[in-house]
Amino acid sequence: MAEKREIPTLCRMCDHGCGILVSVEGGKPVHVRGNPAHPFNKGWICVKGKSALDLFYSPKRLKTPLIRHGGRLREATWDDALSYISVRLQRLKEKWGPQALGIYYGEGVGHQEVRFYMKRFANVYGTPNFMSVGSICNSSRTLGETLTFGGLTKPDVANSRFVIVWGANPLVSHEPVPPKIMRRLGKLNIRLIVIDPRKTETARRADIHLAIKPGTDETLILNMLHVILNEERWDRAFIKKWVNGFETLRAELTKSRFSPETGAAVTGIEPEQARTVARAYAETRPACMFTGNGLEHHPFGVNTARLLAVLKAITGNLDVPGGELFTPKPLIKDITTPMPPSTVQAVGADRFPVFCRVRGEGHALCVSRAILDEKPYPIKGLTITGGNPTLQWPNSRRTREALKKLEFLLVIDVVESPDSRYADVVIPACTFLERDEHRINVYLNLPHVTLRRAVVAPLYGIPDQMVWVKLAHAMGYGEYFPWRSCEEGIDYLLSDLGVSYESLIAEGGIHEYDRRVYKKYETGGFNTPSGKVEIFSARLKNMGYDPSPIRSDVEQDLTGAEETFPLILTTGGNLLPYTHWQFRYIPRLMKMAPGPVLEIHPDTAGQFEISDSDMVEVKTEIGKIQIKARLTKDIRRGTVHMAQGWESSNANMLTSTNDSDPISGFPNLKSLRCQVRKL
Ligand code: SF4
Repeated sequence: MAEKREIPTLCRMCDHGCGILVSVEGGKPVHVRGNPAHPFNKGWICVKGKSALDLFYSPKRLKTPLIRHGGRLREATWDDALSYISVRLQRLKEKWGPQALGIYYGEGVGHQEVRFYMKRFANVYGTPNFMSVGSICNSSRTLGETLTFGGLTKPDVANSRFVIVWGANPLVSHEPVPPKIMRRLGKLNIRLIVIDPRKTETARRADIHLAIKPGTDETLILNMLHVILNEERWDRAFIKKWVNGFETLRAELTKSRFSPETGAAVTGIEPEQARTVARAYAETRPACMFTGNGLEHHPFGVNTARLLAVLKAITGNLDVPGGELFTPKPLIKDITTPMPPSTVQAVGADRFPVFCRVRGEGHALCVSRAILDEKPYPIKGLTITGGNPTLQWPNSRRTREALKKLEFLLVIDVVESPDSRYADVVIPACTFLERDEHRINVYLNLPHVTLRRAVVAPLYGIPDQMVWVKLAHAMGYGEYFPWRSCEEGIDYLLSDLGVSYESLIAEGGIHEYDRRVYKKYETGGFNTPSGKVEIFSARLKNMGYDPSPIRSDVEQDLTGAEETFPLILTTGGNLLPYTHWQFRYIPRLMKMAPGPVLEIHPDTAGQFEISDSDMVEVKTEIGKIQIKARLTKDIRRGTVHMAQGWESSNANMLTSTNDSDPISGFPNLKSLRCQVRKL
């Protein structure tokens, strides 16, 4: 009988790296369960994690590289594919210059180790246009908090007494919160408030659910600040020592135009409810906020994050148990720039300089303009690793036109993704069960480096990191890519930590590099120019932006176009079985959410004579799609919602970059004017 052993590794069905134990028998993975020793998930895994073997054994997996000849993708050997890619990339560089190549990674690869290799490749090739899914996810929060208090916090939900979940649905979406922690909320006097236009799975557990009008979060935060400042419910000692600009903020926000009574007409929230939540949040210590992309995908997502940062700071919740924690990153070697950086500005740096400077990359949502309009200069080649721009980026029609116009497109993925249709070469990636890589966990508030370990040799494909190493060698850059395996790369990257691939295995794949220290600012200050919380950002002022988080025209948002487009469309709420576009080819997951639907309140549907399951047309200024209506009281009247990631009813045929956030460049995906009619 074949020996059976259980190997600890990390799930990568979404980005959160839950610990799993994979049973391997006869060289094949046969079972997956949660790892009780992992400090985040402690044995729990979600339905996607339980489906990891369905991905591994999926018949849809790519088995060989594909090269386009005569209009069709045809199977090729690895050697032929790598040699073909290197010739095309070299030709592109000679003809247009290195900046004409964009190198993009999406959610599917993880945001961790492979990006170092890709960024290094971009640097050696000579292009500044390394770009990522960070152009559309999480960066608004990071920028908003970094500008205000010097770094990103994460809520300590497990130890909190009062939790606000705002624009997020952690029972379904990543970032996840294990159900065990969610069940604890609502008991022991721990209160849960959910602010979301939809009564989500998380909202159903809430003590109070505020069904806010999409895109009006800034106004509600200002209303909450108005209550807290008028009623003097702030943390005096913290503000006195650590907050700059407080008196100016107070003088402005105590004016009646910021009251919940005035704000109600904008947000749709009863003034008394806004007051109750504001008072309870300020009075209950510790309190924290779990926020998601629901707050970011609006025209002023960074500003929204800044206002929330102010709220967190003045109530004394920064870096305390049960509050908002800063978790320092470990010492990982920076391998990204062995050569001097390009002197050419990255695409997007002219429009979103703060984003490009802070992230050290180009802005992916400016690439279509560079391809189609050749502004600020032409992009002629693109590599897409673990991403799917034609479904995930706004304005899919324009994205498709852009990909079609490219002289060269390389796609690296586990399956033939929709973007492969436009590719010159497609390379099979292997799954996370066949790949070694380290993972840092600061987003989970864990000072731990963990190991995603290959539990079996690759069935098809090679690990993502090695794709870039092999490509570098084929291009003649071998001296800059000396690592012959992922293990060697991990040894090098973690060497300053005194950790190696083997030592990580010996620790069960979980290495704690730091002890939790609270109120770290008391010894080092905040990572801002003044060393304090900056309500009025000195960094923004230095870069020519208004330093105030109180926009003069905040009340005017969402007005106009109401006659033609009477409803508000919010897109992109996640579905439990999928991570964005991924896994819509795994039958067991597809049974849970088999097709796209437009959620609409029965009263709103009645206005337009729409019944449940009717096919409807949804139209915005950008485009229109057809989709089946689903009547539900779990959405506020006047708002409709559809998930993203469906090819047949693609939400991003309706979205655009027209009203992007001026700092992050994030598109408006969640508060669009639309009309709906029965077909
Ligand atoms: S939340 Fe689910 S999919 Fe994501 S890492 Fe954990 S088990 Fe995997």
